[in-house]
Amino acid sequence: MCEICRNTPCYFRCPNYTSKKPICYCSSCGEGIFDGEEYIENPNGEYRHYDCFYGMRDLLEWLGYEIKTMED
Ligand SMILES: [Zn+2]
Ligand SMILES: [Zn+2]
Repeated sequence: MCEICRNTPCYFRCPNYTSKKPICYCSSCGEGIFDGEEYIENPNGEYRHYDCFYGMRDLLEWLGYEIKTMED
């Protein structure tokens, strides 16, 4: 059992967790995205952790949606 996270195998956020390579990297925080973490992929092939969005606007713009203002 790992003495830091007390899991076997290590919890994915544990500093001792080296058994697996990240599947891909988050384009916001630069950290790896590991097994069991929630993430989103956009049409440009970029990845981000679900937790690495600052809000709905950030998420939608990253996904390529335009936030429009209705005008007459
Ligand atoms: Zn551990
Ligand atoms: Zn991230």
